[in-house]
Amino acid sequence: MRPRNAIYPGSFDPITFGHLDILMRAIRLFDHVYVAVLRNSEKTPLFTVEERLDMWRESVGSAGAGQVTFESFDGLAVEYARRRQAIAMVRGLRAVSDFEAEFKLATANRHLGAEIEMVYLMTSNEHSFLSSTIVKEVASMGGNVESWVPGPVARRLKAKYGHGEEKRQE
Ligand code: ADP
Repeated sequence: MRPRNAIYPGSFDPITFGHLDILMRAIRLFDHVYVAVLRNSEKTPLFTVEERLDMWRESVGSAGAGQVTFESFDGLAVEYARRRQAIAMVRGLRAVSDFEAEFKLATANRHLGAEIEMVYLMTSNEHSFLSSTIVKEVASMGGNVESWVPGPVARRLKAKYGHGEEKRQE
């Protein structure tokens, strides 16, 4: 029988425990999951694609051994899914606010590749407020993000931002 492959695409700049949570759920549903960091996204990223892939690998460790591949892609996610012979594209859903954007994405993807099913997974409640943006904002101001991101990500954020300092006007 054909293996049931899925792709899990995103910017992942950087990953949070929310992203990790979705991957662990996807592993239970599919034979193989291709975690795919999007290249050439319009957003200006904090981390390079290679750094983002390294953080994924370091954070997942042996948990997904043999069942997960980390790689980057550019162009249409649907085309990438076809190249990987995937039957599904996994996305995470947080609060209601994600719905509108994901609805547009799903509609466009269905138009481009009706055979690739969009699969939306929900994180556990404690991760449902987390976003890469919040993590970067807090980390850039020297806040502790260790309960929101895996250790390797927290360390790289610290290295990127150094720590904040009061600037006193004399
Ligand atoms: P994109 O730029 O493609 O939205 P992100 O890295 O922000 O990339 O997100 C990738 C996927 O992970 C998206 O489906 C997003 O909804 C999901 N995601 C992001 N943060 C969380 C979270 N805290 N819990 C669950 N899913 C999340």
